[in-house]
Amino acid sequence: MSLVKNDKEIELIRDACKIVRDTFEYIKDYIKEGVTTFELDLLIENKIKSFGGYPAFKGYRVNGKRFPASACISLNSEVVHGIPSKNTVLANGDIISIDIGVLKNGYHGDSANTFAVGEISAKKQKLLNITNESLFKGIEQAKDGNEVNDISSAIQNYVEGSGFSIVRELIGHGVGKKLHEEPPVPNYYNPNNKYKLLKGMVLAIEPMVNYGSPGVKTKSDGRTVVTADGEPSAHFEHTVLITESYPEVLTI
Ligand code: MG
Ligand code: MG
Repeated sequence: MSLVKNDKEIELIRDACKIVRDTFEYIKDYIKEGVTTFELDLLIENKIKSFGGYPAFKGYRVNGKRFPASACISLNSEVVHGIPSKNTVLANGDIISIDIGVLKNGYHGDSANTFAVGEISAKKQKLLNITNESLFKGIEQAKDGNEVNDISSAIQNYVEGSGFSIVRELIGHGVGKKLHEEPPVPNYYNPNNKYKLLKGMVLAIEPMVNYGSPGVKTKSDGRTVVTADGEPSAHFEHTVLITESYPEVLTI
């Protein structure tokens, strides 16, 4: 499997990414107090299918178990892989991260956003702002001739320089025929990561940032990752195409 995609493959990834983008555009108006994450998941699944795509997380193995829903929806101290539920009702002041993967014609797109429900605290708002900004610090480095570590360092420096912490157990990745491909794209500098960036590579860059300490644990459902200290966490992700100059963000 080549890490560099040909023009035909890039067009197919671009199509899948457009569905991800349009599904976010659609779902954001439904994120409000009183809505359950189950309802949001159903709306997301139906929207993806209406575009001719398939929700890539549905049935995807996480920790050996198949994910039962279409989107990962994680609230407040949940970091990623939250399972949509009829019992999870959005409340004013929550932050909700939605992670959407789409498969279409054999290729994937992957993106995540964290949204505010109603009025959120200044603390949570700063966490969202810094996490989203750190993603774009990483994207700026995603160009031909750089290394994966340039992306990783840019994110880490921005987040830690702002007083927040980086989750290390979960990282970004290549995107293509598989939802998760090489190269690994950590959100922290890793001296063992020797991958170079080449024109035609497609990466999902996805900082997961904690308000408090960086530690995480998995809930008893075996899937949902939460902060160890119970403080909030945010997650933003885009799928980007490496070019010779500024990368093309395919999920915007
Ligand atoms: Mg994702
Ligand atoms: Mg991803």
